[in-house]
Amino acid sequence: MKKWNMIINVGQCENCYNCVISESDEHVGNNCPGYSAPASISSESTIQILRRSQGSAPMVETLYLPVMCNHCDDAPCINASGGVISKREDGIVIIDPVKAKGRKDLLKSCPYNAIIWNEEQQVPQTWIFDAHLLDQGWTIPRCQQACPTDVFEALKIDDVDMVNLARQEKLKVLKPELGTRPLVWYRSLSRWETCFIGGSVSADIGGLLECVNAAEISLVHDGKTIARTQSDEFGDFRFDGLPPNGGDYRIDARHTLGQASRHCSLEESAYLGEIRLIAVED
Ligand code: SF4
Ligand code: SF4
Repeated sequence: MKKWNMIINVGQCENCYNCVISESDEHVGNNCPGYSAPASISSESTIQILRRSQGSAPMVETLYLPVMCNHCDDAPCINASGGVISKREDGIVIIDPVKAKGRKDLLKSCPYNAIIWNEEQQVPQTWIFDAHLLDQGWTIPRCQQACPTDVFEALKIDDVDMVNLARQEKLKVLKPELGTRPLVWYRSLSRWETCFIGGSVSADIGGLLECVNAAEISLVHDGKTIARTQSDEFGDFRFDGLPPNGGDYRIDARHTLGQASRHCSLEESAYLGEIRLIAVED
């Protein structure tokens, strides 16, 4: 049977919170027997928007990442629940709202922190993919309907076809090392997981400090040049996709106006500031 999967487009979230609000609108105060107890306005949302800011002025990038229940095929929460949490044939994981009464312990069973506690109803809850609406004929959940920037793409698909799609489009899941086999996938997740090194090339031209366009920039790591780029018309350059805590790097900048090097020990993304070229004697 086909299963519901969700693809999330990293880099398109604008942190508008429409998805979170629509989820509250759907569930706060509304009982969905067999799916979920009424959500509480004072509980955390079952959809969270994580934030990551990298670099420093003027080269700053802020990304937002929606996270929710991943509807894992090998879900630790199901194993820990003693029959309270189950997986439907269509892949959706449901916490039984009656059997789950008082089971606050289940929050610890999810390695993604995707289960929240509803103090009013005394039940653990999670994002149910709006299964109650899909069962009525909806083709997308409320979060996707409410999102103005097409972050969410729900699809019902065979496992094999989903694996092929994930391979073709380089989709990734969160914490793959856990082996939980999530059904929520992320497109361009490397933008969230990796770092950049950037800088701005300048030179003293006729007594004026000017930005240098088209300087050749090399990124050197462990004695090898691992990437090259050119500065733009503002003198700016940037190398993306570097691992956090990736160790020591060297930037070499060359132009007919001169050359310069800068060392960097990369922990998080780094803007190296101005790199001023020094004229080379013939
Ligand atoms: S994300 Fe957490 S709550 Fe959802 S299925 Fe996986 S383990 Fe269970
Ligand atoms: S509705 Fe879309 S853009 Fe707005 S916070 Fe949610 S995922 Fe981000």
